[in-house]
Amino acid sequence: MRILIVEDDERLARGMDASMSASGFAVDVVATGEDALDVLASEIYNAVILDLGLPDIDGLEVLQSLRAGGNATPVLILTARDGVSDRIAGLDRGADDYLSKPFHPRELESRVRALIRRSQGTADPVLRVGELSLDRSTRVVELGRCTLDLRRREMAVLETLMGRPGKVVTKQCLNSEVFNFADAVAPNALEVYVGRLRRKLMPGGPTIRTIRGLGYMLEAG
Ligand code: CA
Repeated sequence: MRILIVEDDERLARGMDASMSASGFAVDVVATGEDALDVLASEIYNAVILDLGLPDIDGLEVLQSLRAGGNATPVLILTARDGVSDRIAGLDRGADDYLSKPFHPRELESRVRALIRRSQGTADPVLRVGELSLDRSTRVVELGRCTLDLRRREMAVLETLMGRPGKVVTKQCLNSEVFNFADAVAPNALEVYVGRLRRKLMPGGPTIRTIRGLGYMLEAG
């Protein structure tokens, strides 16, 4: 899951980046409305966290221009505690949810996850493929009755594959959901995570097939 944080308060942005990254999101951060529109024109995100008070273009304008351009990425706006009129204006302009500052990092995370689930047309947080289940709220992965111990990036790769079982997921798509701009990614990083996942899914779990030249496909075991 890849998200964009648009926030000019450096401390707050760093805090959100740290907590969202720790829970497995690939996070990019920009500090201006201009930069936000730039990256949103070229990159695909699962959700955007948008502060309204930005130094250049107002967050509401960023949102409006995004929606006017047909971009339907879920957007959660960050508003001041008493910013009722901002919240209403934001929702009217196509925001999907809002959070008032200050907020708890865990609330931000669970709202973003809920937004992404709704945008994918499923309210059920649990992904299932054969005997394997991944709970997107609790981040617990189970194979049959055993809980699997997965690292953050392994979880991100698996979540992406489980979202499209039986379909080819390209390496490009996986890379963009697992790594952010700032990650110094070794050329074979993805292969390494897939290799570890395969070992952890053995025996009895779904199979991650390599589709040569294209990417990977998860098949029920
Ligand atoms: Ca601000």
